[in-house]
Amino acid sequence: MATIKPIEGRSIHQIQSGQVIVDICSVVKELVENGLDAGATSIEVRFKNHGLDSIEVQDNGEGIAPDDYETIALKHYTSKLSSYDDLSSLQTFGFRGEALSSLCALSNFSITTARAVDGPKGTKLDFEVSGKLKGTSVIASQKGTTVTVESLFNNLPVRRRELERNIKREYGKVLGLLHAYACVSASVRFSVSNQMPKGKKVVAFSTKANPTTRDNIANIYGAKTLLALVPLELKFEMDPSARPTKSAKNWSTQEDGESRGVEILGHISRPVIGEGRQTPDRQMFFVNSRPCALPQVSKAFNEVYKSYNVTQSPFIFADLKIDTNAYDVNVSPDKRTILLHDQTTLLEKLKSSLTQLFEGQDQSVPQAQLS
Ligand code: ADP
Ligand code: MG
Repeated sequence: MATIKPIEGRSIHQIQSGQVIVDICSVVKELVENGLDAGATSIEVRFKNHGLDSIEVQDNGEGIAPDDYETIALKHYTSKLSSYDDLSSLQTFGFRGEALSSLCALSNFSITTARAVDGPKGTKLDFEVSGKLKGTSVIASQKGTTVTVESLFNNLPVRRRELERNIKREYGKVLGLLHAYACVSASVRFSVSNQMPKGKKVVAFSTKANPTTRDNIANIYGAKTLLALVPLELKFEMDPSARPTKSAKNWSTQEDGESRGVEILGHISRPVIGEGRQTPDRQMFFVNSRPCALPQVSKAFNEVYKSYNVTQSPFIFADLKIDTNAYDVNVSPDKRTILLHDQTTLLEKLKSSLTQLFEGQDQSVPQAQLS
């Protein structure tokens, strides 16, 4: 008798969902990105019991059309990508149509939504574990979408217990992630709060739809933090002759043979003793404004900084502006791992241009810091 058999559909859905949504950070990341993709200028994130009881993300984006209610939470249904070829020209955070379907499998999940044409009338959508629409009801709602995730991982007991055990650390990580989205999102207001059972609602942080990253940094970390920062503006060409490997052949060379430039924009602490920051969540990295984990880039920044200031670690906000053909976001389920083509050359150039930037800096501590 054959022993190799297909896994039944429901189990596959649960197995895959557990890879897309691994913790509270992944829930928040997916929902905030959906709000931004929907053109929101305001994002409110409300936790109950640090997210253990519920996570709610409200946006004032375009809302969901009734024709999409049936399919919105089905796996691989997306309005953002229809074929693999579109991936390199992608303008949105999402593209796989996996987040909402995964959340249905792992939590008590519901959506309320209203478009501008719906007036003050919104619709609440409830779903089955499979992502199928279970029912709708009419409720009062302003334009936008609110997604509610309750009792995350209640059907995965081991993961739920781990989450409960590490909830304080996890909540800290979530705030770090939200700081990154709030800092990089120009003209989008962010408000993040937590309510403990029987406790009062506490606002963790908020920003004011500011036009610049600088203002967002000031809202989140305080105006004093800005004083210790210098603008980060690194520009270099990826010299084709400096390519270290054959596999990196196409990197940074356009069809016409012209090499492409790389820009790294943002803010970094002046490498002066007394001005660095110790907390690692104050280091944020982005590729074309997409928050992501860039461990090698982070290491390069920290190495250069350490050669000036061994006692502290810097505040870093670094957004790599590179051609969409020169990296791949489709590497990990959470899209935070990014494959940068010819990373070795990029890191070398980054280090030398950062050194040049620091060499040109006035190393004295500003008067406002001394007083
Ligand atoms: P993806 O973002 O990869 O498309 P999701 O499962 O996150 O997949 O969302 C599925 C679809 O639901 C999206 O393509 C979008 O059309 C719609 N959607 C999700 N969240 C929102 C939202 N907050 N506002 C409007 N539409 C949304
Ligand atoms: Mg999405």
